[in-house]
Amino acid sequence: MLTNSSPISVQDELVINWHITEACNFACRYCYAKWEKPDASRELIHDLPRSTQLMGELRTFFATANLTNPLSQKIQWRSTRLNFAGGEPLLYDQQALRTIKVARELGFSVSMITNASRLNTDLIRELAPQLSLLGVSVDSTNATRNRKIGRCDKQGQVLSVNTLAKNIRTGREINPDLRLKINTVVNALNFDEDMTDLIRELDPEKWKVLRMLPTVTNDLNISDAQFSAFIDRHASLPLSIEDNVDMTKSYIMIDPQGRFFQNDADTRGYRYSHPIIDVGAEQAFSQVSLSTDRYLARYRSIAVAK
Ligand code: SF4
Repeated sequence: MLTNSSPISVQDELVINWHITEACNFACRYCYAKWEKPDASRELIHDLPRSTQLMGELRTFFATANLTNPLSQKIQWRSTRLNFAGGEPLLYDQQALRTIKVARELGFSVSMITNASRLNTDLIRELAPQLSLLGVSVDSTNATRNRKIGRCDKQGQVLSVNTLAKNIRTGREINPDLRLKINTVVNALNFDEDMTDLIRELDPEKWKVLRMLPTVTNDLNISDAQFSAFIDRHASLPLSIEDNVDMTKSYIMIDPQGRFFQNDADTRGYRYSHPIIDVGAEQAFSQVSLSTDRYLARYRSIAVAK
């Protein structure tokens, strides 16, 4: 089900977010990547034939020429990008790599959002040629703050920003067209930080700054003034700001079991479709809501068709 009634907008690409796993080696206190019944054995990423079936359904339904897709009444797009997210998708790096290969053979461009803790030289060398965009979540350059936020593994290891910068340089050497996006969740433990030097060094195409969602926890909540101060401090950088009201019903999202899902304001949880490979993408997509206006507000429109 679609909401809103804007004129048709022409987009470079339509983005589908597939959260391939709920598992993560970090434990961010604000993490909202939790699904109904955690069960890794039901995650499709471990089953290449079923993953291929899922991606085939998506490829057909979100094909640019498929006028039976209700989105085509609101949006025209030139290509379709499948974004691998989590949890932490690189916990299953080999499954992700083989699935990405199939996704590209099916005609998707592919991106990934990762906490980058498992990235190393060998992995970025394999990954970079397959990706059009790499998204990395970084909340702080300070190890103590990262540990307090929960951005560390069970051994207390945090992401080294120097290693991250090195891996990104390697990725760009291998794939000069690799776009970089950084995501930062502003919360009570980092709202006063100045991340200018890091962002300048990494030089992302976009730095997405999200305000922590109080639906998950209130203890890291920040005020409007604190969020604004963070934004003002970094105003010279390529910021893309996402307040929590902007986020609902604005992503096309698939859960680890291959179901569309969407934020549900009534239950403050998620609403799920039937599994896409059981009922087909068209029927499953009709079972969740998407706000096309909020979707379009997120992704740049390149022209207004009418
Ligand atoms: S890195 Fe991402 S998926 Fe992992 S705990 Fe943090 S927010 Fe959740």
